[in-house]
Amino acid sequence: MSILSNRAKNLKPSPTLAINAKAKSMQSQGIKVISFGAGEPDFDTPQNIKQAAVKAIEEGFTKYTAVGGIDELKDAIIKKFQRDSGLSYKRSEIIVSCGGKHSFYNLAQAIFDQGDEVIIPAPYWVSYPPMVSLAGAVPILSETKEKHGFKMTPEDLKRAVTPKTKALILNSPSNPTGSAYTKKELEKIAEIAILGNFFVISDEIYEKIVYDGFEFVSIASLNDEIRKRTIIVHGVAKTYAMTGWRIGYAAGPEEIISAMSNIQSQSTSNPTSIAQKASVEALIGPQNEVVKMVKAFAQRRNYIVDRLNKIPGVSCYKPVGAFYAFPNFSPYYGKSYQGKKISNSTELADFFLDVARVAVVPGVEFGADPFERLSYATSMEDIREGLDRIEEALKKLT
Ligand code: PLP
Repeated sequence: MSILSNRAKNLKPSPTLAINAKAKSMQSQGIKVISFGAGEPDFDTPQNIKQAAVKAIEEGFTKYTAVGGIDELKDAIIKKFQRDSGLSYKRSEIIVSCGGKHSFYNLAQAIFDQGDEVIIPAPYWVSYPPMVSLAGAVPILSETKEKHGFKMTPEDLKRAVTPKTKALILNSPSNPTGSAYTKKELEKIAEIAILGNFFVISDEIYEKIVYDGFEFVSIASLNDEIRKRTIIVHGVAKTYAMTGWRIGYAAGPEEIISAMSNIQSQSTSNPTSIAQKASVEALIGPQNEVVKMVKAFAQRRNYIVDRLNKIPGVSCYKPVGAFYAFPNFSPYYGKSYQGKKISNSTELADFFLDVARVAVVPGVEFGADPFERLSYATSMEDIREGLDRIEEALKKLT
C-alpha cells in the first residue's frame, strides 16, 4: 500500500510560490535577489481597511461566522457587482471563501465530475489545470496567439467544444499575459457558450487593474441567458493589496453557490471573521487608494514593456490589465552559458536566478514555453535594476 493517494502523488506545488520560496531563501543567505516572481502588490493594505479589522478585533468579532460569509459582506459584494457591472445578485447567489483560489476550488468540486471537459485558454493561471484535475475533470488546453492579444477567438473556442464540455474558464484581465476581452469579444464567446450549453467561469480578480481607459466588462452582464451560465470568481487580494487576508468570493446560480457552501462547510468553514469585516470596508469604503495603486502600476507597465522590447530579440505584448509582463525570450533558447545550453523557459529562469539574481516565472508553467512572466508589482527601482541585470546576463549567452 502506498502512503500517498494518487491525487497527492500527481500534484506539484504551485510553481509561482516555489520560485518565490527559492528567491526568499537566497535573500536570507544575504544574496540580493530582485524578484519579479510575486503575484501580489508591493503596496501596504490601505489604512481604512486595516482600521476596520482592528475595530472588528476590539469589538470581539472573533468567532465563527456563517459558513459562506456574513450578510454584511455579502451585501457589500452585491453592491459592488451592481455598482461596477450593473449585475443584481441575491445573498443566496454569493459565497465568500478563503481567497479567490479557494472560491475556484470549491466551484470545481461543486460542478465537475469524472470525464467532464473544461476548456482553459493558454497561457493560463497556473492553478486552473490542477484544480480541474483534482475534481476529476479533464483540462482542455486551447492555445491562444500573441498576435490575437493572447485571447481566444470564436474559432478557437468552437474547435475546443465537444458534447463533454462542462465549462470554459475565462480570466480577464489575465494572469500571466495582462490581456483582457472587450465587450464585443465576450458577446461572441457568450453566444457559443449558450449554444453549446456549458458554463463560463469568469475569473475577474484583476477587474480593477486596467490601463489606458480600458473598459472592463463582465461576461455575466451581457444578457440573462449568459448570466445564468456564469459563475464569477473574484477577490479582494489584488485590488486592495490584501493577499494575506484570504478573502475571495463567487457569484452565480443559487444551486451551485449552495453546493459550494456545503463543500466549504465540510472543509474550511467560514473565512476569517476579521478579514471579512475588513473586506466590507475595502469593497464599499473609499476607493482612492486603488486609483493611486493602478496609476503606479501603469507607470511601471510602460517602463518594463518598453525596456523589454528594446532587448535584442525580445518581444513583449503591452498588457491592458493586471500587473504582469509576458515577454517572449525564445530567440535565446539554444544559446549557452559556460558550456551549458539553455533550451526552454525553465532553464532560462534558472539562469536568470543563478547568474543575474533575478527571479521570474517560466512561461511553461502557464502553458507557454517561449515566455517568462515578470510581475511588475514591485518598486520602480527594483524593476530598473532587475532589467539591467537581465540585459547584462543575456549578453553572456553565446
Ligand atoms: N485568479 C487569478 C487569475 C490569480 O492570479 C490569483 C492569484 O494569483 C487568484 C485567482 C487567487 O487569488 P487569491 O486566492 O489570493 O484571492
